[in-house]
Amino acid sequence: MKFDTKTIHAGRKPCKITGAISTPIYQTSTFIFDDFDEPGEYDYTRTNNPTRKALENALAELEGGAAGFAFGSGMAAVTTAIHLLSAGDHVICADNIYGGSHRLFAEIMTRFGVEFSFVRITDEESLRNALKPNTKMIWVETPSNPLLNIIDLEVVSKVAKEQGILTVADNTFATPYFLRPIEHGIDIVLHSTTKYLNGHCDVIGGAIVTATEELGEEVHFLLNGLGTNASPFDSWLVLRGLKTLPLRMDKHELNAQRVAEYLNQHPGVSQVYYPGLPEHPGHHIAARQMTGFGGIVSFKLKSEGDVRPFLKNLDLFSLAESLGGADSLVEHAATMSHASMSEEARGEAGITDDLIRLSIGLEDADDLIEDLSRGLDGG
Ligand code: PLP
Repeated sequence: MKFDTKTIHAGRKPCKITGAISTPIYQTSTFIFDDFDEPGEYDYTRTNNPTRKALENALAELEGGAAGFAFGSGMAAVTTAIHLLSAGDHVICADNIYGGSHRLFAEIMTRFGVEFSFVRITDEESLRNALKPNTKMIWVETPSNPLLNIIDLEVVSKVAKEQGILTVADNTFATPYFLRPIEHGIDIVLHSTTKYLNGHCDVIGGAIVTATEELGEEVHFLLNGLGTNASPFDSWLVLRGLKTLPLRMDKHELNAQRVAEYLNQHPGVSQVYYPGLPEHPGHHIAARQMTGFGGIVSFKLKSEGDVRPFLKNLDLFSLAESLGGADSLVEHAATMSHASMSEEARGEAGITDDLIRLSIGLEDADDLIEDLSRGLDGG
């Protein structure tokens, strides 16, 4: 079955009683047992729920994995995945990741004895240099938030497999429409479904898809034990959003390429970060491992002092965190999405005060460019 068909049909079973084409929302906390030792397929919604299961099966199919899981937020998915480790384990983590993931790793998980090295993974050597005898996990985002760094997943999986190390790829920016990390040898794919998978800025959610059933069992044990599950209604919203994923991603990308090219020639802009631009350092890897470059464009203004007037003059782009919805959003990474990182960590990752991140929505590209021109050239 082709990807576009899967986004409509994967995981979904029409209601046997009513024939409803939309997956029912099983808004229940618990399920009746036939006898004390005879639970049905479902017993308690934290453990499992039919609406959530439909989403989980759909996501597993879309990512080409063995098992899928839906969480109450992207951070709940990150929290669950990192709990696969124990005290004394070491993680090689890409230096540019979502600020909330960085905070969880550097400021919370270290309290429990998990060790992290934040590394600029540019090639095989940079990854090998970071290996330690206790390295148990490699964690990457590609394209990364907010600098759109591209990491070669085949290099990551090759090094990891040699050493028996688990690999995690946060695929929030690309979505399985543009990139399926499991096809490149990655063990665990992670999402903030808050973003493109839901696509309408009306859900907080997360997901994990595992390459194997065995890993899936471990993740389900943790989801249930930690209580990080998604609610039935939020699961239903993401299921609904998935149906239009290919259409939305194509339009996001088309618009993003236009915006990136416009910014790239503007004299007020010093640098544009978009993997669809041929001069982006990860362009060739992205072109090989992805089928599209996505809808996020970051850029630096010539001067930090230009940030406030630029943001004030915009009309269509809303100043807000998050990304991946129909509406175009703009944010100042250093004080918004990545404020939870220390100034030093931001500096090391290259997240400077003149950096702006755009989530390119589904509006007409001409209108978006006109709006950016209002911001850059003055109201
Ligand atoms: N991963 C990435 C790449 C993100 O951008 C985010 C949020 O921005 C998260 C994870 C966390 O997701 P959530 O905000 O749904 O908890």
